[in-house]
Amino acid sequence: VSWPASGATGGEKRPSFVVKRLKTMFSLDERTDSTGAFRLTAVKPAFELAASYLNDPGNRDAASAAAWFLQDPVLADRLHAVEETARLGRGRLSVKQSSSLYGQELTMSASRIDKFYACRFLYFLQYGLNARPRKPAGFDAPTAGTFMHYVLENVARDIRDGAGFHNIGDDGIKALTHDYVSRYVSESLDGFKDKSSRFKYLFNRLASDAIFIVLDMVRELRCSDFVPLDFELEFSESGDLPAYTPSGKDVSVKIKGFVDRVDGWERDGKLYLRVVDYKTGKKTFSLSDILYGMNMQMLIYLFALCRSGAGLYGKTIVPAGVLYTPAREELVQAPRSTCQADIEAARSKKVRRSGMVLYDGDVIEAMEHGAAKNFIPVRLTKDGPSGDSLATLEQLERLSAHIDRMLLEIAGNVRKGSIQAEPYYKNQNDNACLFCDYSEACRFSEDDGDRRRFLRKLKTDDAWRQLDGEKVQ
Ligand code: SF4
Repeated sequence: VSWPASGATGGEKRPSFVVKRLKTMFSLDERTDSTGAFRLTAVKPAFELAASYLNDPGNRDAASAAAWFLQDPVLADRLHAVEETARLGRGRLSVKQSSSLYGQELTMSASRIDKFYACRFLYFLQYGLNARPRKPAGFDAPTAGTFMHYVLENVARDIRDGAGFHNIGDDGIKALTHDYVSRYVSESLDGFKDKSSRFKYLFNRLASDAIFIVLDMVRELRCSDFVPLDFELEFSESGDLPAYTPSGKDVSVKIKGFVDRVDGWERDGKLYLRVVDYKTGKKTFSLSDILYGMNMQMLIYLFALCRSGAGLYGKTIVPAGVLYTPAREELVQAPRSTCQADIEAARSKKVRRSGMVLYDGDVIEAMEHGAAKNFIPVRLTKDGPSGDSLATLEQLERLSAHIDRMLLEIAGNVRKGSIQAEPYYKNQNDNACLFCDYSEACRFSEDDGDRRRFLRKLKTDDAWRQLDGEKVQ
């Protein structure tokens, strides 16, 4: 008597009630077969195993499966076809093929732009072929991100429309957070119906992290004059604002997507806006990345707001900055004897946002009151504001022009059908292949002409100089 432990998509499978009865009636033992030999008992999985022989000639099960299929003329042809396909080069798409895969009018999201920049072959597999990797069931990163965004958005909106960030106490914030966690469980997770114990355990751990994350967000807004104006603001034809559409001589691209949060502050009749992105991962802002055409999302949205936000907000818009805000509990490593105050101090260092802030004393003070800037990535010295994250209006304008250039370059390459496996490579711990879901399908090989794109991290000063067209050694 057997049953699969998981389905084709990785979801957990449970045995039928008959198994339980049989186990009780005959005192049967339960054994897990993890050798993979069971794949030889049905044609489809056995064929997949046989095809894997090409990659793994030392695998005896795969060799037996291949030998069996080669005896049958029809199935042998299929296996030979797989072999031939594996020998093909990557080639490139024609403009016509590219148009039929990606559409006559090129529309991309900021995350697609990042994918294309990370590796063109990865982009082709994911968005051209719509190939989907097998995912194990569980509370994975996208699910955790959706949950955290839901809680942050709803709690922030309720406080803004109710007591206000300066008036609500920590107990009120915790109660609101609990309330939205419970709503999420009943509305989006169907009250944990059909969820495994492991899922519930992971979710509950995340729910307790949510309290710290929400408190951190409100503590920042308590000492700021910037107020959340919009959550999940959509740029698209049917959204709150039109898609951002840079266009060049031969190519144009529509960038659509959502901004997690837009905060605003008014001065002299002008509205200063900052774009806030919640990050469940460890991402930090880097001008060097922007220069290479990576992680441009927040700045794309900021510049899109500058171009079309006046209609929405009824004021002239001035860019005030972009901030990555942590949406995960930051763990502090310290000896057991460390007191609570020191732990809080260490934690507050970890919650400092990363991003870019307009070089303007009033804007900086409005973003965070007081001399000690705990949240925004700026320091106040006797000579004024300091830090790599500062940018003047004129520098922001240059960045905007640079981003448009990069977007059009990327769009041009998508249009031309470029699908090379040329993943970016900064170092062993930061490269496109490291967590790529498609590595098995791609079979990257420098011997077959694939190559890595080595990126050197530039210091911020050098990045600004390079943006000005200067050569940096
Ligand atoms: S494994 Fe590397 S080269 Fe292959 S698709 Fe992924 S990122 Fe590209």
